[in-house]
Amino acid sequence: MLNGKTAIVTGSTSGIGLAIAKALAEAGCNIVLNGLGNADEIEKLRLGLESGHDVRALYHGADMSKPSEIASMAQQALAVFGAVDILVNNAGIQHVAPIEDFPPEKWDAILAINLSSAFHTIRAVLPAMKARRWGRIINIGSAHALVASPFKAAYVAAKHGLLGLTKTVALEVAEHGITCNAVCPGYVFTPLVEGQIDDTAKARGISREAVIRDVLLAAQATKQFVKPEDLGALSVFLASDAAAQITGAALPVDGGWTAH
Ligand code: NAD
Repeated sequence: MLNGKTAIVTGSTSGIGLAIAKALAEAGCNIVLNGLGNADEIEKLRLGLESGHDVRALYHGADMSKPSEIASMAQQALAVFGAVDILVNNAGIQHVAPIEDFPPEKWDAILAINLSSAFHTIRAVLPAMKARRWGRIINIGSAHALVASPFKAAYVAAKHGLLGLTKTVALEVAEHGITCNAVCPGYVFTPLVEGQIDDTAKARGISREAVIRDVLLAAQATKQFVKPEDLGALSVFLASDAAAQITGAALPVDGGWTAH
């Protein structure tokens, strides 16, 4: 369905990004993997994407907080594949703390990785997308791009900002065959969520079980975590021609959370 297209998926060594990279490879895309992690494990992931699908995968270890490394990743993708048709801005980190205890360096890192990196990737790939008059930019936002929760000041600010960037880019490129959308997941059980359960328990003075039941899934009407594969399938759809008129949208995949 997407045979011969090339996708950069930032933060694709784990969780949602990895599921999106797998779904896009399954649909026929060459993949640029990116993210942190153990070199041997990343190489296994890269080979896993290539095996079974007639696609190529390359890994670039750009740190998404460093604009020069982001530019180098985009240049390498263009040099190797000749195009970047699909850009998925997914890399993200979280820190949970009351605002008066929120470390300023965590604020800076979250804004850099969850928001500014998307500005840098988009500006790096847009000229090539415009030249081919086709492109798909998928920003992985969050329900926290639409509503807030306490103790997540930087994350909520970054994700709301990412939605603003999404709408602006969508309007700027609408007549160039390029769409730009934000996918807004509720809670997906990935290492990012696992890592915040203990911090949330500490910040609220409650148990891990209470965090899962009363905090994470409290607003998720289905009372179920979203699956990373659900976001892979939506990304493939957004990259398809059937989604050409969906742009500037925030698409919740949140079990009804933001319907409240
Ligand atoms: P994860 O921790 O499993 O994966 C995060 C990915 O980002 C990893 O590949 C990691 O290596 C990469 N990364 C982190 N810092 C990086 C850096 N400086 N440079 C390059 N890569 C870096 O998390 P996840 O849950 O899969 O989250 C992926 C995205 O989905 C994030 O943007 C997150 O905010 C968003 N999201 C997650 C949930 C959820 O419940 N898990 C809900 C809504 C939105």
